Amino acid sequence: MKSSITSVHLLDGGVLDVESSVVVPGSGFGRRIAVPVQMFLVGTTSGYVLVDTGNDPGVIDDPVGTWGADLAAASRPRMQPHQHPARQLALLGLAPRDVRAVVYTHLHHDHAGGGRVFPHAVHVVQRAEHRWATSPDGHAGTAYVPADFTATTWTLADGDWHMLPGLQLMMTPGHTPGHQSVVLWDVPDLGNVILAGDAINTVGCIDDGLPPGIATDTLAAVHSMHRLTALADATDALVVTGHDMTQFEALPKAPDPLRRPTGGPVHQARKMLDLR
Ligand SMILES: [Zn+2]
Repeated sequence: MKSSITSVHLLDGGVLDVESSVVVPGSGFGRRIAVPVQMFLVGTTSGYVLVDTGNDPGVIDDPVGTWGADLAAASRPRMQPHQHPARQLALLGLAPRDVRAVVYTHLHHDHAGGGRVFPHAVHVVQRAEHRWATSPDGHAGTAYVPADFTATTWTLADGDWHMLPGLQLMMTPGHTPGHQSVVLWDVPDLGNVILAGDAINTVGCIDDGLPPGIATDTLAAVHSMHRLTALADATDALVVTGHDMTQFEALPKAPDPLRRPTGGPVHQARKMLDLR
C-alpha cells in the first residue's frame, strides 16, 4: 500500500525543567535539566494529523493555576505565547480547524494538554492509556491532569493499528500502560520515521539501554525500546525521541519540514550477527 504521508513538521511546545533522573534514570538526583515539549504535524493525502498536543496553553500565563502547585513545581514549564499549538500551526499558514485527527502517545500533562485547541478533530489514544489515565494508581497519577482528557470524545485504539496508509500506531507500554509510538513510512525526502514519544526519552537512552526514569513497568519499557530500535535498524528509520534537548535542537522545526539532523544525536543501527 502506498504511503499517504506528504510531510512532517516538528512543532515547538516549550520547555520543562525537570529533575534529570525522571528523564534518564540514575543521572543524578536534585539536578534539573531542560527538556523539550514536542508536537508533530503529519501531512497526509487525507488531511493533517497532529501527534501530541503539548502542555495546556494555560501554563503560558499561570502554571500553578493550570496544573496545581505540585505538578507546576515538579515540571517548571517555560512556555511562551508563540509555543501555543495554534501559533505553531500559523507558522505553516494553518489553523486548528485544519487538523483532522490528533494522536496521543499517552495522556501525561506535557502531551495531552492542548487537546481542547482541536474541538473539530478525531482524538485517538490507546484504550489501555485512557483506562489508566482516568483511574491511575497513587503517585503514578500525578502527571495526569483530568481536565486534559475527561471532556474529549475519544476514538480508542486496541493495540497496534494501521491508522492511515503509511501511518502506524505501535503499542510501546512501560512508561505508561497504554503508551504508543507512531511509525511513518516513506515520508518524502525523509524516509521512515519513528516518533517514539516517551518510550525512548533520549538517544543516549538507546545506547545505554535505559528505560524512561518514570515507568509504570520498567521491564515492559525496556522491551518497548528494543522493539522500536530493532524496527529502526531494519528500516533505516529516523528515531525522534521524547525529551532529548540536544536532538531537538539539531532537528529542523516548523516552518521548516523535519529532516534528518546533520549534527546532533541519532540512533545508530546496531551490528547484525556475523556468521562468517
Ligand atoms: Zn513527556
